[in-house]
Amino acid sequence: MKYISTRGQSPAQSFSEILLGGLAPDGGLYLPETYPQFDAADLSRMRGMNYRDLAFEILSRFATDIPSADLRDIVDRTYTAEVYCNTRPTEDAEDITPLHTLEEDLHLLCLSNGPTIAFKDMAMQLLGNLFEYVLAKAGRGINILGATSGDTGSAAEYAMRGKQGINVFMLSPHEKMSRFQAAQMFSLQDENIHNIAVRGVFDDCQDIVKAVSNDHEFKQANQIGAVNSINWGRIAAQVIYYFKGYFAATTANEQKVSFSVPSGNFGNVCAGHIARMMGLPVKHLLVATNENDVLDEFFRTGVYRPRGSVNTYHTSSPSMDISKASNFERFVFDLTGRDATQVSDLWGAVEQGGAFDLNESGLFAKVGDFGFQSGSSAHSDRINTIIGAWTVWRVMIDTHTADGLKVALEYREKGVPMIVLETALPAKFEETIREALDRDPVRPAGMENIEDLPQRFEVMDADVDAIKQFVVEQTA
Ligand SMILES: *Cc1c(COP(=O)(O)O)cnc(C)c1O
Repeated sequence: MKYISTRGQSPAQSFSEILLGGLAPDGGLYLPETYPQFDAADLSRMRGMNYRDLAFEILSRFATDIPSADLRDIVDRTYTAEVYCNTRPTEDAEDITPLHTLEEDLHLLCLSNGPTIAFKDMAMQLLGNLFEYVLAKAGRGINILGATSGDTGSAAEYAMRGKQGINVFMLSPHEKMSRFQAAQMFSLQDENIHNIAVRGVFDDCQDIVKAVSNDHEFKQANQIGAVNSINWGRIAAQVIYYFKGYFAATTANEQKVSFSVPSGNFGNVCAGHIARMMGLPVKHLLVATNENDVLDEFFRTGVYRPRGSVNTYHTSSPSMDISKASNFERFVFDLTGRDATQVSDLWGAVEQGGAFDLNESGLFAKVGDFGFQSGSSAHSDRINTIIGAWTVWRVMIDTHTADGLKVALEYREKGVPMIVLETALPAKFEETIREALDRDPVRPAGMENIEDLPQRFEVMDADVDAIKQFVVEQTA
């Protein structure tokens, strides 16, 4: 299996070759040359498999350059009940992503039982083990530089902590994360984890990462790498739980299901699109956004109009506060029939700060063929949905999952199981839970007093050179 760029100007490469990088050299995103296909016989064989067996079945079609025995070992070490242990009392951690039924044909797929209690652990834990393996084989190391407003940074640090050949430098805006989020990251004492609290806002952090990435000489000399949401390995790992959720919610392969996906960067729902392209019987993929509704606008109107950071709202589902959806280009590549020239033209306009309208080319009319629907929520919707879920089903959901459930309830169809992806546990966003339910969410064991643990972080100015200097010193 080779991977090609959505812009068509980069050579095809293997899974291991693209794993450590982000964008393709031509500025595009990598996708498999063709999607592996699972037919009815495959699906019958896979039904009833546990998470590890499913993961191996799917990943072995993507990572064809990793010997089977090695991939099997990586998968078996990644998806264990010990790692994904933060389940609700009624759930079995052995399921890794348990299906929690609310009522007939309405389910939550619980993706937030990992170490940082958000769905990003599902992919990041695999990435940690894959990185370590690929680096050891190549006899080299990597210094991961990232910016986070919360969930991505902690998921990356918990996945990479203590790993051979890997250092993590994670920039976060000083005193802007929730106390819980800051405590999660800063309480890590591992020597290879470096937390840098930048005097500034999230965009300052992201600008520093961009500036360092654009300094090709520095990047090369210091083995700078990234784990952002466009990384193909993360998308591949996310495909697995769509299959797991499908089998858990159905009894026969003639049945179709729909998924509702709380969305920001389009990474999670992009994996759903790919699962569907691989033959998973999916009826609809619901793209659920918050007030930052660039994706909802596209699926309603055919116009993709990124907002720019000044027009990005801070909401109570903060992990979906994005101005442009980095992974969206992957879907548009498929929508155009994989026409790299057309994709390059469209993103040429976007990168100039513009927008595009797919009505003119007739492409928007084809969006329905891919099963997408969309909706958005405001703060009051989240509050009402959290109250409703608690009142009716006695289940406490976080603010992002609430965005997904709200849109799911608008679109559900009789006889088609609707699966809402639970992307974080409520303990991560306590303030809004308190506002909605006037009570505190239960924290998983071991996280009760996380704010009281000793913290390890460096406060620095938003100064690119100073941060480069810090990376050099720490890795000398
Ligand atoms: C990252 C994140 C999302 C958005 O996922 P995308 O892949 O960016 O669409 C939703 N909910 C939570 C809790 C997240 O951390």
